[in-house]
Amino acid sequence: MGKDLEGKGIIVTGATRGIGRGIALEVARRGGNVAFNYLKSEQQAAELKAEIEKLGVKALPYQVDVGDLKAVREMVNAVKKEFGQIDGLVNNAGLTRDKVFVMMTEEDWSEVIRTNLTGPFNFARAAVFMMMKAKRGSILNITSVSGLVGLPGQANYSASKAGLIGLTKSLAKEVGRLGVRVNALALGFIETDMTAALPEENRTQALGMIPLGRFGKVEDVTPMAAFLLSDAASYITGAVIQVDGGFAM
Ligand code: NAP
Repeated sequence: MGKDLEGKGIIVTGATRGIGRGIALEVARRGGNVAFNYLKSEQQAAELKAEIEKLGVKALPYQVDVGDLKAVREMVNAVKKEFGQIDGLVNNAGLTRDKVFVMMTEEDWSEVIRTNLTGPFNFARAAVFMMMKAKRGSILNITSVSGLVGLPGQANYSASKAGLIGLTKSLAKEVGRLGVRVNALALGFIETDMTAALPEENRTQALGMIPLGRFGKVEDVTPMAAFLLSDAASYITGAVIQVDGGFAM
């Protein structure tokens, strides 16, 4: 491991909490400069900036909604100016609005698709051309086992995460020859605010379906994310790697 991301400029979306925060800190520990965005958590963003800077690298926080293409473009251009190049993009920001399908509203549907699928489109659209010109770059999309197998109560979320897998593979085929890699991590149940919100009954049921017999921790995800951003993964593209304790095998 060591400083295998030294000098790289990496964007992590939705880094104020949970998995995004863990990935941002792991990138910084490995020597990468980190730009990140968030929606509301201003205080957490300031704390994360300070924590990253303590590791001796640059941190650039932005309050930018991933669904707003104009704001995303402005952020990506500003980061390019500061870092000189964007070597990595982690499309992590996401949310759930779980509901049985017959109760799901148009807002439940569109909010999830806008954040989880249009958000990654917006960031990739804003950053990929710079990567193509530099003939290097790694895009990592954080998807879910829900997008692989479908989960009840998550039609909107499953659709967004399955869509993200399609985006990953299609873009990987388009830009591979230009030195840009695009991969996805399909995560199982990881202990964050998102899964803390699940009813106890669903948590117990989910636990029974995990061969490794426990929920994942953020630290179970971050080494694989950092690896896919690093040059050690230079022959890996279009992969959807499960980090799920065996849930969706
Ligand atoms: P989390 O703890 O709820 O954190 C979500 C992060 O995304 C926060 O930093 C939030 O910012 C940000 N965010 C949400 N909407 C945004 C928007 N419109 N624009 C910008 N930032 C936005 O979530 P998590 O559990 O770490 O999940 C991270 C990713 O992993 C998501 O894509 C999720 O679908 C995926 N995933 C998680 C699990 C799991 O078990 N936890 C499993 C599979 C996949 P604020 O703090 O400002 O709200």
